[in-house]
Order: sequence, then structure tokens, then C-alpha cells
Amino acid sequence: MLDPGLAAALMSPLGLGVLGLLVGSFLNVVVHRLPAQMWRAWWQDSVEFQLADPLAWQPLFGGKSAPPPQLAAAAQAVAAELQKLPEETLLRPRSRCPQCGHVLRWWENIPVFSWLALRGRCSACKTRIAWRYPAVELVTAGLFSAAAVHFGAQPATLLWCAALALLLTMALIDFDTTLLPDSLTLPLIGLGLGGALAGWTAVTPTAAAAGALAGYGSLWLVGFIWQLLRKVNAMAEGDMKMFAGIGALLGWQALPSALTLAAGVGAVVGIVMIAGWGRDRSKPIPFGPYLALGGICCVFFGPALQALWFG
Ligand SMILES: [Zn+2]
Repeated sequence: MLDPGLAAALMSPLGLGVLGLLVGSFLNVVVHRLPAQMWRAWWQDSVEFQLADPLAWQPLFGGKSAPPPQLAAAAQAVAAELQKLPEETLLRPRSRCPQCGHVLRWWENIPVFSWLALRGRCSACKTRIAWRYPAVELVTAGLFSAAAVHFGAQPATLLWCAALALLLTMALIDFDTTLLPDSLTLPLIGLGLGGALAGWTAVTPTAAAAGALAGYGSLWLVGFIWQLLRKVNAMAEGDMKMFAGIGALLGWQALPSALTLAAGVGAVVGIVMIAGWGRDRSKPIPFGPYLALGGICCVFFGPALQALWFG
């Protein structure tokens, strides 16, 4: 067992803040690499299972017809390009400068401090390193510290840290790519249901399960109604799964506050972007960042916000 004094130090606001810096540094990698992995898997599936596969072709185009030879050629061309891509996982290879390929040495990879020491530039080619990298590390550290203050030095606090890290990662990936990977949304649902079953989240298992269903269902309904009225698909399934995760984590009672916050802030930002910055109205605005904001606010201020709804 861990020494009680050491455990208390690790679970203190300072200890979890340092952990947050390290986790934030890893989240930067995940945000960068996970979408690339999804696109790679999508192309791989297309080549292997769909593009030139008679089993996919014949049910639609006729039992005896064969896919046109151009499709087989295209599949081969894509497969050849995929072969050329370097192997990449979330842990390997080591981080490098996207501009010049310079592999970061250990002292160039310390959260926040390296960015400050390097004055925000690659040590080899002097290209600017986005301020978002240290910002994500600082925000993660802030969230973890806040969790330490809010939930105290107990194991459940680590569950809240994991949930906060997942929400932040989803927000960033959705913002960058309008994708919400299942590999992030489904673990959030699992974390919520598991936490409730273990008695770690102060949400009953019934309220967590109802929260998951109501979270998914409410956004599905919003999308359905929107489609009837405006004939456009406004809500992606990733948003529904993400909101299901928030419902599982916080219970169904938190959903009205989380959704009002998300929709309210999203509407204001959307109007400012379209009216102020001339953003193209037809371009989809990712909803995940706002759902994450609503969810994170409810993690910390849930009871106060719920009181507004339920008295
Ligand atoms: Zn460089």
C-alpha cells in the first residue's frame, strides 16, 4: 500500500495539478494523433472491405455484376499509399516538430516550462509552436487541481479527473475535426455507469442509466425535430453519445443545466462568429466543445445549477 502521507500529497491540489500537467501533455498527443488514426482506419476499411468487394457491390447493383475494374485499381492505389505511411500509435514514435521533424529531447518536452524556455519556438528550425499546447496543459492542471479541492483526497477524485480529461479531449478533437471518437465517448459512459455502481459518484445506478438514455435520447430528439423543420442533419451521433456520457456521469438530473449551458454559450458564440467574423453559415459548428463546457460546469456546480431547475 501507498504511504498515507505520500498518498495525501499526490491527491492534494498541487499533486493533482502536476499530474494534470503531465496528462495534459499526453492529451495534446491524443488530440493530434487519434483523428489521424481514425482516418487511417476508415481508408483501410474502405480498401479492404468495400471499394472493390463483390459482396458489397452485388446486393445493390445485381447478383452477377462485378465492380468496375477502376474500383479495384483505386483500391490498390490507396493500399499502396497506406503502406507508405509510418507506423504511429498514441505512444510511439516520440513527439517531433511537425515542420522540420526534429525529435524533441526530454527537456524540450516538459509541460509548459519547455514552451516558455524555448520561447514558443522549435529549437531546430525556430518555427512557432502553437500556444495551445501549453494552454491545454495548464487547463488540465487547473481542472485536476479544482477536482482535488472540490472532491477532496479520495480515490473517486481520480475518476472525476479522468472524466474531465475525456471531456476536454473530446472538445478539442471535435473543434479541430468535427469528429467525436467512440474511443472517447464510450469510455465516458462506462466511467459514469461504473462510478455509480461502485458508489463513487454520488449518483444512483438508476439515475446514471436514466442519464445515459436521456442524454442520448434528448439530443436525438433535437436532431429529429430540426431535420423535420429545416431538412438538415444538425446533430451527429457522436454528440448523442457524448451527452449520454455526461448523463451517466452526473445523473439525468444534471442534463437540463448541462444542455442549457451548452446551447446558450454555443448560440452566443455562433452568432458572434457568423455576424462578427463573417463565418460561413452553412459550415457545421461542432457542438462537442459546448457540451464539454456544460458538462464540466455541472461537475463542479451541479447541485447549484440543478436547484435552478428542480428547486
Ligand atoms: Zn522544427
